[in-house]
Amino acid sequence: MKKTVLLKGTYLWDGVGEELSKKGTIRIQDDRITAIDYWDKLSNQHHDQLLDFTGMTIMPGLIDAHTHLSMDPTLKNYLGHMNDPLEDLRTRAIHMMEKDLSAGVTTCRCLGDKEFLDIDLRHAVESGDFSGPRLQVATRGIRSPQGHGFVGYPFAGPEAIKSAILENVDAGADFIKIYITGTLKGAEEIHSYLTHEEISVAIQTAHGAGLRVASHCVGGIGLDWALDLGLDTLEHAYHIEPEQVQQLSRCSTFLVLTPSPILTDQRVLNLPAPLIPGHFEERSIIFNNMAACIASGMPFAVGTDGMHGELVSEVGYLVDMGATPHQALQAATINGAKACNLEVEIGSLEVGKCADILIVDGNPLNDVNKLRNVVAVIKAGELVIS
Ligand SMILES: [Zn+2]
Repeated sequence: MKKTVLLKGTYLWDGVGEELSKKGTIRIQDDRITAIDYWDKLSNQHHDQLLDFTGMTIMPGLIDAHTHLSMDPTLKNYLGHMNDPLEDLRTRAIHMMEKDLSAGVTTCRCLGDKEFLDIDLRHAVESGDFSGPRLQVATRGIRSPQGHGFVGYPFAGPEAIKSAILENVDAGADFIKIYITGTLKGAEEIHSYLTHEEISVAIQTAHGAGLRVASHCVGGIGLDWALDLGLDTLEHAYHIEPEQVQQLSRCSTFLVLTPSPILTDQRVLNLPAPLIPGHFEERSIIFNNMAACIASGMPFAVGTDGMHGELVSEVGYLVDMGATPHQALQAATINGAKACNLEVEIGSLEVGKCADILIVDGNPLNDVNKLRNVVAVIKAGELVIS
């Protein structure tokens, strides 16, 4: 016998419409949404439990479309801390996921962690060992031995990259992460650390195994190659050129923006000392490049790149860069679901979808900072934060 819960709010943002609806009551059976309507229409039907959030706004659970579970950018030299012992990383990751869930994040897309820690954590969350967001994981990020990628692992040549990807697939990766470029531009043109052949092999191998490919890539020739070769998601795009914005808006590659690594002072100051000046020097050009992507009208998701519990800050940056609150909220909900390839299951409130729900006080379509007013969080039909 399925358990039926009636969730009573006053307002509803379903993740699609541009305004709040007054159909603020949701019926949930086990983990599924089975009805959305006015309280008067649903209140007299059978239910086992009533969750009363009168006066509040019901919306989809948030999706952090780019994070690293054991990363904590509030730590001094946080990239160096990614080399802490695995057991310490695990303990930290559990704490980070608690912060995410408390902030309304019901799904995290993990773009690589140390070893196969993210597989272990996904399994632990699914088995109920502790509560955390649902996880989509990349396992080991794949980079060139010369290349950028503090969280990634070096593999040289197409054959080694192919084997590494197949090992990630065997371990249970949900998708594959590759590092094509560094993060900053510097004085010279943006170098592609992976060759055209390596990118091609990575995409073909992953697609052959039924998985999608995400790439850390900020621009340059590597971005041209990746778009031509059918990259699935482009992460960061900090130094994308106007012609590449045009190409990206026409092709199937999906953009995931990550503002805070560049725009948050304290985070930049927690980088290794030699990296700090460049981040400040390139801030305004990167801001403008991200703004150009938004202005093009292409869909985009958003991620914290490890700033756990602070997805709302990233959403705020999107608005600063010219997104409407509706676009910014969609980046953190339905478009995050698209980046995860889970839009059939999550990302909006619709009958038949999984009941991942955030309840906030106020109207986030007027002011995205209302996302900070978390009243309760429901994941797969279970009240996990209240
Ligand atoms: Zn990242």
